[in-house]
Amino acid sequence: MIVFKFGGTSVEDAAAIRRAATIVAGRRSPNAVIVVSAMAGMTNALVEAAADARAGRLTRALEILDRMIGRHRSAADDLAGGHLRQALDARLDEARLEAAETLRSLAEMLEGDPSAGSELPTAARLTDSLLAQGEILSSHLTTCGFSAAGLPTRFLDIRPMMRTNADFGRAAVDLGVAGPRLAAGFRPEPGDDRIVVTQGFIGSTIGGATTTIGRGGSDLTASILGAALDATEVQIWTDVDGIMTTDPRVVPGALHIEVISFAEAAELAYFGAKVLHPSTLAPAMTKNIPVRVLNSRRPDGVGTAIVRSTPGAKGPITAIAFKRGITVLNVTSDRMLMAHGFLARLFEVFSRHETAVDMVTTSEVSVSMTLDDTRHLPVIRNELAPLGDVSVETDQAIVCLVGEGLRSSPGLVPRIFSAVQSLPVSMISHGASAINLSFVTPGSRVEEAVRALHAEFWGAAVPQTAPGQLSSNAKKIR
Ligand code: ADP
Ligand code: ASP
Ligand code: MG
Repeated sequence: MIVFKFGGTSVEDAAAIRRAATIVAGRRSPNAVIVVSAMAGMTNALVEAAADARAGRLTRALEILDRMIGRHRSAADDLAGGHLRQALDARLDEARLEAAETLRSLAEMLEGDPSAGSELPTAARLTDSLLAQGEILSSHLTTCGFSAAGLPTRFLDIRPMMRTNADFGRAAVDLGVAGPRLAAGFRPEPGDDRIVVTQGFIGSTIGGATTTIGRGGSDLTASILGAALDATEVQIWTDVDGIMTTDPRVVPGALHIEVISFAEAAELAYFGAKVLHPSTLAPAMTKNIPVRVLNSRRPDGVGTAIVRSTPGAKGPITAIAFKRGITVLNVTSDRMLMAHGFLARLFEVFSRHETAVDMVTTSEVSVSMTLDDTRHLPVIRNELAPLGDVSVETDQAIVCLVGEGLRSSPGLVPRIFSAVQSLPVSMISHGASAINLSFVTPGSRVEEAVRALHAEFWGAAVPQTAPGQLSSNAKKIR
């Protein structure tokens, strides 16, 4: 059984949903599970509507919602008629009502009734309920579109099975509860080989409140489902030919990678390659389930296979990722000199504020750390002050070169740094994982750095060719 995940652009309108149905039909996988994201742009629009409602602009928020519902209705007009359409209309009406109600509650929170204050659901909780409607709507639309295309399909609400904690906006999935529930909930009745359409990105707490698991989280949903259901493969269908040597939006000549290891892909995702949510691979890896990334606009391409270990020798660098919006924190102190326990005290502050540090470099008198999540920065900064002088640099970026070849290619380091010699580079880190070399550069220079490194390892930008040709092209250039 295959788990298919269709991202926002792969369900963005009726044509995209029909393409998805053709893809699934062609792969003949009884009981296939389809995980869908919200239509492209929908989650962003709902985030905007929530912000408007909270700021007291309820009319504007409701207009955004209606525009979005309108998009689903236009797709529905194109996809189905008769009883299928009637059933879908009822679902669209329901979702609209629920979303409008949530927007009203968000707007009312602003008025702040102090007597009811502690009873009110938090804004984060209401926002998650609102965002979830994006995935609920697209999954109803996809169920209808697949049925209209002649594929026997049923809809399943994943929320009661996908148990998470109550960290609204970035809830963590409780695999111990979710795994068995998903396995039981998705198990087909004997003789029922219908396709199941469900939602990425959403779950629920023990008390039944809707949660979301972090932007881009539908990839993670698909991987969790793949592991829970012992799928033969998880297929991530998106808008590029697979994993590329870097983000093709920055280097249009980025090359397609045919096979990549779990470890390499996980590093790329962690360091910003948006094509996969950073936590996607862990669940699939535990069960050794292959993950494939494919282009729903060019379904005949081979995509990228993510496997336990890659065959044969490749070039020294497999791909380059980058992450913008990074904050660097420097703690300088002569008390650090030879002091044991200093780093423990320092990291204890981050641990208490549940803030992850991505990169760390130390010298005799200073420690530098990168943070992605700055929600608790002011308090962290205060609590670090007794340990030394604290300085903060915002708008930084991490550039990360990834490749199994980095383990065994002497001479690469000078090649890397001569390519970026005209740029400010700091916090160089290699060795934490032998397949990753990372450094920090100002956010305003990151694209320059990535282009220079791409040119160094893959030559000047090569225009994209048809899928399948790209990989042989890549081999030649290397
Ligand atoms: P979806 O909505 O299907 O989940 P995303 O927008 O989340 O799609 O991810 C696909 C995008 O990821 C691509 O359009 C591309 O710009 C970006 N991307 C970043 N790094 C890479 C990479 N190394 N390979 C492929 N795509 C990448
Ligand atoms: N719709 C959600 C988002 O835009 C989840 C996803 O697309 O994976 O972040
Ligand atoms: Mg995505």
